[in-house]
Amino acid sequence: MVHFVGAGPGAPDLITRRGAALLEGADVVIYAGSLVNPALLGLCREGCRIYDSARMTLEEVLEVMAASWEKGEDVVRLHTGDPCLYGAVREQMDALRERGIPFDLTAGVSSFCAAAGAVEGEYTLPGVSQSVIITRMAGRTPVPERESIPALAAHGATMVIFLSAGMLEELQAQLLQGAYTPQTPAALVYKASWPEEKVLRCPLGELAETGKKHGIRKTALVLVGDFLAGDYRRSKLYDPAFTTGYREGRQ
Ligand code: SAH
Repeated sequence: MVHFVGAGPGAPDLITRRGAALLEGADVVIYAGSLVNPALLGLCREGCRIYDSARMTLEEVLEVMAASWEKGEDVVRLHTGDPCLYGAVREQMDALRERGIPFDLTAGVSSFCAAAGAVEGEYTLPGVSQSVIITRMAGRTPVPERESIPALAAHGATMVIFLSAGMLEELQAQLLQGAYTPQTPAALVYKASWPEEKVLRCPLGELAETGKKHGIRKTALVLVGDFLAGDYRRSKLYDPAFTTGYREGRQ
């Protein structure tokens, strides 16, 4: 069987217990070496064969999976964060399905969740934003035109931008074509949950300059929106005057 497992954002204790158990039991591990913290490989048992997919093509990954499956071995395909975001897992699952190789998926803590922890923030504040837009700048992977940064920034919602720390100047300019202003708060979160984690807060108008000053070019998320500022309304759920299915409101 092939197990796709979310490794979490980096800290070795931010993998799920299920993910850790699968790693401990694996005969073969194929991990995304460019991002997964190698400390997690310490969970693998002796004799486990470990492959770094950063040096492999999709075909080579599938070859290892198929050969192991034929021998009755358990394979863990370890992806950073949660595999469902920018994980290139769909093409692997489709190929496995075609070959009749069974697989399952184990969720992980995405880096965007770890980044909220790093800024001690809440993306969905009442009176500020109730939506989180997860996106990226177009790179070698194109982004559909209707999902361009200016189009998405028009909402003024909370935005989390992946895979774009190397393009901060263009990103800043495109974000400013939307509903944000140069004063809208932003943050660059580098290696959330790793020992070398860095949180750099700045107004959006200084995003590129801040990234440059601190030499941030990869493994970082850009957070934008007024959730990073001080104003919001308190929740209805915990308002003493509000009646919920569990509690009678009092004036
Ligand atoms: N599936 C992953 C994302 C993979 S794409 C997840 O759920 O987090 C790789 C991008 O994710 C990086 O370019 C960076 O933008 C972001 N990223 C991954 N780990 C990160 C971390 N610990 N801190 C900040 N950004 C991270």
